[in-house]
Amino acid sequence: MAEVVIIGAGLGGVLAAYEIKQQLRREDRLTVVSKGETWHFVPSNPWIAVGWRKRKAIEVDLPPIMKHKGIDFVGAGARRVHPAENRVELADGRSIRYDYLVIATGPDLAFDEVEGLGPSGFTQSICHLDHAEKAETSFEAFCKAPGPIVVGAAHGASCFGPAYEFAMILDTELRKRRIRDKVPMTFVTSEPYIGHLGLDGVGDTKGLLESEMRNRHIKWITNARIAKVEAGMIHAEEIAEDGSVKAKHDLPFSYSMILPAFRGVEAIRGVDGLVNPRGFVVVDKNQRNPKYPNVFGIGVCVAIPPTGKTPVPVGVPKTGFMIESMVTATAHNIGALVRGKPAEAEATWNAVCLADFGDGGVAFVAQPQIPPRNVNWSAEGGWVHLAKIAFEKYFLGKIRKGESEPFYEKLVMDTLGIHKLKTET
Ligand SMILES: Cc1cc2nc3c(=O)[nH]c(=O)nc-3n(C[C@H](O)[C@H](O)[C@H](O)COP(=O)(O)OP(=O)(O)OC[C@H]3O[C@@H](n4cnc5c(N)ncnc54)[C@H](O)[C@@H]3O)c2cc1C
Repeated sequence: MAEVVIIGAGLGGVLAAYEIKQQLRREDRLTVVSKGETWHFVPSNPWIAVGWRKRKAIEVDLPPIMKHKGIDFVGAGARRVHPAENRVELADGRSIRYDYLVIATGPDLAFDEVEGLGPSGFTQSICHLDHAEKAETSFEAFCKAPGPIVVGAAHGASCFGPAYEFAMILDTELRKRRIRDKVPMTFVTSEPYIGHLGLDGVGDTKGLLESEMRNRHIKWITNARIAKVEAGMIHAEEIAEDGSVKAKHDLPFSYSMILPAFRGVEAIRGVDGLVNPRGFVVVDKNQRNPKYPNVFGIGVCVAIPPTGKTPVPVGVPKTGFMIESMVTATAHNIGALVRGKPAEAEATWNAVCLADFGDGGVAFVAQPQIPPRNVNWSAEGGWVHLAKIAFEKYFLGKIRKGESEPFYEKLVMDTLGIHKLKTET
């Protein structure tokens, strides 16, 4: 019998639980260690922040689903991973032993790296549902006394899509409320150009997003490092190619949402051989840690080098479909290992994304996510907004039913030539 433990029950962790359960033998045991008992659809957070969604619509209670699927569930959270002892220490003082461990703990949000940044400082966040709810309260107050808005991503950030989405969604909502004319908007980002997205662009995301910003009267500053945030003021520095400060910008704001840099969570940060200096899990092509090959990493917690050198540090995003491909490879590999077979499955790390702007949006497909690519496609249109709403409903339905990839989803993706495992390509 094998003991398999997953820590982290977010997008990657819950799908991993469903898929690994399918790959295990009857006698094996699977345990999910989560921080809390609920799952929520993170891509809906920008809609929460403008009141287009409420918590209940995007939240799922995990224990009954896990019980139904025969998966043990612990809501206490992990305090520390001890890979040399094959043991996870829980926050309640207990420990769980494992034969195979899957780390799916997502990001730790490094607000503290910039003075005044984040929900306990002066800017809002949409990274977590709790933050998005706080952002909504603040947005409602802002609408009563509108002023300048600054949206963007701090230096070292790797997740840029939601910042673009949120800027455009705010613009859409402010126009609906007929107060857009009272709100100067600025987008400030560490990316070297608009539409870089940590991916050196996909298709014509540079042209599409610049044009969208111009149409919506959103000014932008690229290559920006946020030096400090004070009440109502962001101090940003524009960095030149040689690393010198090219210009300083003092950006007044009445409302601001800035995505922070990510790092690995405390339970794994600093564990020798398991993580890199930022605390991200080091994995090989089969999602296994080279020093501890019975430990797998999936999702945002995985270490991926940047696509290239940029004046301000810019990370690579770990997008939903890419994470799903890591999940499938990990499930196949654990299924093989418990049967004494080699772990040979490799994730494609393909990216398929829908960025919603509230009344339109941009879609892209990057195969593989890191350039140069075999498929490098982007497009825009009103259909993207509708597709994202449909995708939200579909995805929530899957999580509630305890399914990862129904056969019809696989059929559609296979027909489009978008695969999760390299052997399928
Ligand atoms: C606002 C936003 C919108 C996004 N929208 C899109 C999108 O539209 N399309 C797309 O492709 N990608 C999107 N992404 C990127 C990505 O798909 C999501 O970030 C996704 O949630 C990442 O999945 P994950 O499993 O790696 O991490 P998460 O979903 O963040 O899950 C990690 C889980 O681990 C838990 N955890 C942390 N520490 C511990 C511990 N010590 N013990 C136990 N549990 C722990 C956390 O509580 C969390 O539940 C978005 C990201 C953000 C922030």
